[in-house]
Amino acid sequence: MDKQNLKQAGLKATLPRLKILETLENNPDAHMSAEDIYKVFMDSNDIDIGLATIYRVLTQFESAGIVCRHRFEDGRAVFELDHGKHHDHMVCMQCGDVAEFVDDVIEQRQREIAQKFGFQMTDHCLYIYGICSNCQSQSK
Ligand SMILES: [Zn+2]
Ligand SMILES: [Zn+2]
Repeated sequence: MDKQNLKQAGLKATLPRLKILETLENNPDAHMSAEDIYKVFMDSNDIDIGLATIYRVLTQFESAGIVCRHRFEDGRAVFELDHGKHHDHMVCMQCGDVAEFVDDVIEQRQREIAQKFGFQMTDHCLYIYGICSNCQSQSK
């Protein structure tokens, strides 16, 4: 994902767009809120991009199919690069950690249920909310 991808998506390769794309690509946690991205910029200190701009760019990316937006139950909107590979999420309500998983049985069951109802499934998302193992061991 680089300048070329922005062009393909019909977006000009502006500095904020490139920087936000780069941050999403290089961050070890694939799921970032606008605030997370803002924090990376603040910490690295090399570029001055406001939170409002980050939101705007992320929304543009979403419309262009570059990122997916998740709205988690704790009210956060989290973005991740859309690699076109389906997966579901587990969200820790304490630390906000997001883990990904894919389970063939779950996927298959959903297809069967949709079929049973004569429903044409276009997409689905499954979120499991709870407390991650890290937070559990810390509270002991
Ligand atoms: Zn946690
Ligand atoms: Zn994900």
